[in-house]
Amino acid sequence: MKTLKNLIFVLNCGSSSVKFAVLDPDNKKKYLSGLVECLFLPKAYITWQYLGLKYNKTINVSINHKDAVNFIIDQILLEKKDILKNLIGIGHRVVHGGAKIKKSVLIDNKIIQYIQDAFSFAPLHNPVNLIGIQTTLEKYPKLSKKNVAVFDTSFYQNLPETSFLYAIPYNFYKEHGIRRYGAHGTSHFYVARKTSIILNKPFDNLNIITCHLGNGASISAICNGICVDTSMGLTPLEGLVMGTRSGDIDPSIIFFMNKKLHMSVDEIELILTKKSGLLGLSGISSDFRYFEKNYNFDKKATRSVDIFCHRLSKYIAAYITLMENRLDALIFTGGIGENVPLIREITLSKLSLLGFKIDTELNLSVIKGKSGLISKSDSYPVFVILTDEELAIAEETLQIINKK
Ligand code: ADP
Repeated sequence: MKTLKNLIFVLNCGSSSVKFAVLDPDNKKKYLSGLVECLFLPKAYITWQYLGLKYNKTINVSINHKDAVNFIIDQILLEKKDILKNLIGIGHRVVHGGAKIKKSVLIDNKIIQYIQDAFSFAPLHNPVNLIGIQTTLEKYPKLSKKNVAVFDTSFYQNLPETSFLYAIPYNFYKEHGIRRYGAHGTSHFYVARKTSIILNKPFDNLNIITCHLGNGASISAICNGICVDTSMGLTPLEGLVMGTRSGDIDPSIIFFMNKKLHMSVDEIELILTKKSGLLGLSGISSDFRYFEKNYNFDKKATRSVDIFCHRLSKYIAAYITLMENRLDALIFTGGIGENVPLIREITLSKLSLLGFKIDTELNLSVIKGKSGLISKSDSYPVFVILTDEELAIAEETLQIINKK
């Protein structure tokens, strides 16, 4: 522990979970990492790893994000004096930068206001991201000028108009900022950089499609190192089928629910964000472990997985058209992309006409924390690459702190 220095505390507040880590971005070592899950449910579960050892705790009452961050700071970090002594900054994942924030920034009152201004663009995320920020500002006043916000939307600043504009009256964009902003950018950018290293290609010459498949799921088309399209839109609701989010739907469904079924806008929002996707289709679960286990036995699981893959393969096929005549690789990442060979196999089998051929053995072997190639030699290369949003946020945080 003598060698500890320049540690960054990373907080990633999700809609119903908080991920955290303490790491040294220089040597990429993660000293502490963990997850608080099942916020707002009767029991919350906290698991963490510290210096290679695993710990867990169940909290037998319902807790919110502030409780979770307080627990992490007061019960886990407080006693780790070596870590606390060497903390030089705090990196926060913030989902939406809105129209005003284009890249990672040191947090001050103006930035807090901008994060609030973007609440309606990421209603499940920005408010809880801000709770994380406010809690660390209270708890670590000495580091108050070293809190950095890293935005999921930053990677999409160079989207061309053709992909970021919706075909609705132009003034909704000009006057109200309604456009595609994308999300998950930190992860897409991280695996894209990894791909450029694996392929030994300069980043600005990279033509790839990246699929981040987790509870939230999105896909990005990257051409000459620039993201030219992505599936999440004004908010993270658009695009692929997700754990509890619907992804793409005909907007008229909302009118139907409102006018014919007399549901309020808030009720409809709840249905589309929290009760749809894999959970809505199956009526059972949003956890992919259930679907993987039951795909061959349970009609609901089969249907849900097939719809998930159908949507994904359509996006991949569409994004190939944005590749300027060359695709260097297709990338799978995120909890599902990294761990579920079934998804990769079904999706790629739909794309054989376009030149994708999966290697079944390789596909089955690349799971549980492994990265690697899963395609045959005469296919477009398809890789599974482990994402590490916490490391990406820590690297970005250090860079911003050092700039000052
Ligand atoms: P997020 O960061 O969006 O919360 P993750 O990237 O952690 O999501 O992915 C969560 C999803 O990945 C869940 O559906 C979970 O069931 C699935 N998942 C994670 N590990 C496995 C595994 N070993 N086998 C099957 N599914 C898994």
